Amino acid sequence: MSRTFQALFVDNAEPFSVAVKPAALSDLPAGEVLIKVLYSSVNYKDGLASIPDGNIVKSYPFIPGIDLSGVVESSEDSRFQPGQSVLVTGYGLGVSHYGGYSEYARVPADWVVPLPDGLSHKEAMIYGTAGFTAAMSIQALEDNGSSPENGKVLVTGASGGVGGAAVAMLAKRGYHVAAGTGRISETDYLKSLGASEVVSRTDIYDPEAKQRPLDKQLWQAAVDPVGGNQLAAVLSKIAYRGSVAVSGLTGGTKVPATVLPFILRGVNLLGIDSVFCPAELRSRVWSRMAGDLKPDNLELLVDREITLNELPQALADILQSKTRGRVLVKIS
Ligand code: NDP
Repeated sequence: MSRTFQALFVDNAEPFSVAVKPAALSDLPAGEVLIKVLYSSVNYKDGLASIPDGNIVKSYPFIPGIDLSGVVESSEDSRFQPGQSVLVTGYGLGVSHYGGYSEYARVPADWVVPLPDGLSHKEAMIYGTAGFTAAMSIQALEDNGSSPENGKVLVTGASGGVGGAAVAMLAKRGYHVAAGTGRISETDYLKSLGASEVVSRTDIYDPEAKQRPLDKQLWQAAVDPVGGNQLAAVLSKIAYRGSVAVSGLTGGTKVPATVLPFILRGVNLLGIDSVFCPAELRSRVWSRMAGDLKPDNLELLVDREITLNELPQALADILQSKTRGRVLVKIS
């Protein structure tokens, strides 16, 4: 097959560029499964992959896109058949291996997940890595004792991709969700996702106030894609034997916490990595995303649906927190 198709390339040849260009199947990296990509999405990491100093992409030119859903075109691995609906998130996709912003992608078979029953290609990418990370966070909290009867759960960065998905999924499971945000103007949106209350970012962490290592116990648990100073403040406000699932760093990488919440309240700090999540857990979590965690209003997470040509602007927007929820990319 000598087909040409469209893909978004980032290139560091002067001047640095992010542009849709023609590509050939022979340009794609090695892998057992060739996928006709139908949808992708925009994640914070994709934004970083599209700027010169983002520290994501190692060699150029490169096709970013850490998420894709589509249909198997051909497969050298017996687990996958032409015509089968699949999704890929994480591993090297869009980081060290050409990603989902392309009409075709060729990937190792071990990265491919069959699309679970109950999810369309589009719904899988409304979730994308952000939704998967939110669902992994909920799984980790529940594996450590969280349940809807045990009290409120805080979600930080609630207007973002991971945060919004976490709000909607926790609400679907019957949790009382406190949506933490720097954008109080998004209160109506967060309530439409299922938040029971909206908490201002400065009420969670006030940079002007003296921080207390142990504060009032406000939440049984938290989903935290923000990290930084705010994470230290969250830890001080988690109830006895509660947990925080931390996945992100939009608020910074340094966490000026003390050991006191851990040793006096038995609080758990749970690390969430969606990239190398083992296959068994990956399938189990995606099944839950198509089942008991699937919000009735998944479409509400969509900020907008765009095409490949509109990606450069969307990638710039997510780095400036100008995105609400998820930007869905219709590839073909
Ligand atoms: P988004 O940009 O969609 O969401 C991030 C949200 O964080 C923003 O919408 C904003 O929410 C909040 N925020 C932004 N800046 C700050 C700040 N300075 N202080 C406090 N809050 C802030 O990104 P994603 O949801 O796609 O990703 C979120 C994070 O999770 C990123 O760091 C990303 O790298 C990480 N991530 C990690 C994964 C993993 O496997 N561990 C997988 C996926 C993502 P609001 O306006 O509501 O306050």
